[in-house]
Amino acid sequence: MGLLNATVRCLAAVLACVWVLLPAFASATCLPSPDPRLRELQNLVDRDATRALQEVHARIDAATGHAPPAALAALHAIEAQSYSILELDAQARDSANAGLALAPQASDPVHVDLLTAYAENVYDASGIAAALRMVEGARAAQVRGTLADSCLLITQGLLQYRQDRADLAVASLIQAYRDSTASDRAAARILAASVLSSVMRGTGDYPQALALNQEVIDWDTRRGATLSLSVSRYLRGKILNLMGRNSEAIDQLGQARALSLEVGDTEGVAYADVLDCTARIELKQLDRAAGSCDDALGIFAASNSADEVKETEGLLARIDLAQGHAQGALARLNGVLDHQGEDLLPIRVASLYESRARANAALHNYRDAYGDLNEYVRRYVAANDAEKTKTAAALRARFETDREIERNSRLKRELGASREEAHRQARELKWNAIAATLGTVVILLLIYFLIVNRSYRHQLIKLASQDGLTGLANRRRTAEFASAALAEATATSRPLSIAIIDLDHFKVINDRCGHATGDHVLTEFARVGRESIRPADVLGRWGGEEFLLVMPDTTLEASIATLERMRTLMFGINLPASGAGMRVSLSAGVAISPRHGRSLDEMVARADSALYVAKNEGRDLVRVADDNHLSTTSIRRVVRR
Ligand code: GH3
Ligand code: MG
Ligand code: MG
Repeated sequence: MGLLNATVRCLAAVLACVWVLLPAFASATCLPSPDPRLRELQNLVDRDATRALQEVHARIDAATGHAPPAALAALHAIEAQSYSILELDAQARDSANAGLALAPQASDPVHVDLLTAYAENVYDASGIAAALRMVEGARAAQVRGTLADSCLLITQGLLQYRQDRADLAVASLIQAYRDSTASDRAAARILAASVLSSVMRGTGDYPQALALNQEVIDWDTRRGATLSLSVSRYLRGKILNLMGRNSEAIDQLGQARALSLEVGDTEGVAYADVLDCTARIELKQLDRAAGSCDDALGIFAASNSADEVKETEGLLARIDLAQGHAQGALARLNGVLDHQGEDLLPIRVASLYESRARANAALHNYRDAYGDLNEYVRRYVAANDAEKTKTAAALRARFETDREIERNSRLKRELGASREEAHRQARELKWNAIAATLGTVVILLLIYFLIVNRSYRHQLIKLASQDGLTGLANRRRTAEFASAALAEATATSRPLSIAIIDLDHFKVINDRCGHATGDHVLTEFARVGRESIRPADVLGRWGGEEFLLVMPDTTLEASIATLERMRTLMFGINLPASGAGMRVSLSAGVAISPRHGRSLDEMVARADSALYVAKNEGRDLVRVADDNHLSTTSIRRVVRR
């Protein structure tokens, strides 16, 4: 029974943490009402939920008994959204349920609105599972890709994330995000972006989380949604803190705090203070950190928020320790760990033990220090998030690919329109002239994008030169670099080495462990590759599982050493259980100019035939091109490619 209680408490702590991870949304209204008066009220929810609530209560009172059920249900939806924004979950669920009883048809937009408001306020495991079934059921009654469908999809993603299924959540949210690019669907897109940002932060993909968060901040700023903006800025502070960019985090938290004060959200002020305290501890601004933590402690104690009080006490203990007050730190930590911290997040508890070990050691209580240190290690290992880091890599790849696909298809659509126009004008021109015009259109289109939206600039450059999966240079960029390097080498009479690297038995890895593992191996190879080369070298994806390494000003010996280093580092890439008995390895062929050729094609062909030798001699080998002519086999390989 005790164990059961502990488990329930622990679960409650995790869920409480999810609540902190995903507080209010950027926007209350995914589905705007067709009635202008209700839409006005929906907008008020964003700006001032408390006033919206008063207004909606007055209208419900006036409508009860006279108004048709549909009208009453719509008012309950707004009531539920207001409670949701104010983080009053139980009231939000009750209002939503009252509305759902009046609007039971899944195809009714008001039903969808009520259902999302209900589901977003469910935090216990069985409630989440039930809400997920309801949302999936309601989606069955929608046409795919409509706004109502997207709103449900966002809620579905949120619930999946609460179930710890980040992979499913990302897929749902990206779908909703992609379906909501039209300008009249900005609210849905921002909603998807705000949840995705938190999911990405949870999976450790901070740059992506930051980019999505910026979209939300811009939107909140435009709409004057003060409460949402304070939350978005708080979340930005959190991401920046996790990235170690603490000065920037402090700046965001200062803004979040001021906004929370403006709307009288005292808890919001306290959350900003705690994070400010954390960031300042990391910057060693201990006095100011203590000030912020003390402020937060006062607020949390007044509102009986036991977990937050403990969390803050833990931070104050760290400050005590850093200031040499071991006795004070020990007293605080003993208080915090009185129930062995079972109601706190496991990873937090681990760090509390580590702090107490240091306090005990400073007071020469070595026995206790040793005990705490053991406890720290045990809990740290249990809460280790190595697995999480792996999913983060996979998710990032997936999301980037998806964003690229979306960008590509948008580009293609635009391109299609411009192409027709170009055709009409260039009808009399010969084929080469048409091609030239199209080339210009593409360039103009790129320039148009660059000018119209500066934020596309960076992405487009990346798109044009980078391989989406591995982040390495793509084939075009690699070939450009290799040609330039070869010209330079010829002009300065310096050596240039070029190597072709091919992963061994990659098809078998794909077949046995799945395509996702294959992708993971490619990303891992890219990491190993980057670690092995010098800043002046370029490693690019040449195609599939084949890579070209260009090493300017490098002797044959030095380039072989680099490749051997890379080959050895490959041993560290792990495969899942389905790949038992297999190891990831590479084969490489290297050629040097001018000895093996003066043109890029010749060099690549020579390196390729050396690779062929490496494969023939059993793989996991580095081989140098021979000085003879190309074999017919290698020429055929080149031609085929
Ligand atoms: P070898 O030792 O001779 O190099 O054998 P191999 O299996 O590595 O070579 P093969 O050319 O037969 O197979 C290459 C495989 O790589 C086939 C293709 O499906 C897979 N592949 C190509 N690009 C990607 C990719 O982006 N991701 C994944 N997962 N697989 C890819
Ligand atoms: Mg291969
Ligand atoms: Mg190959």
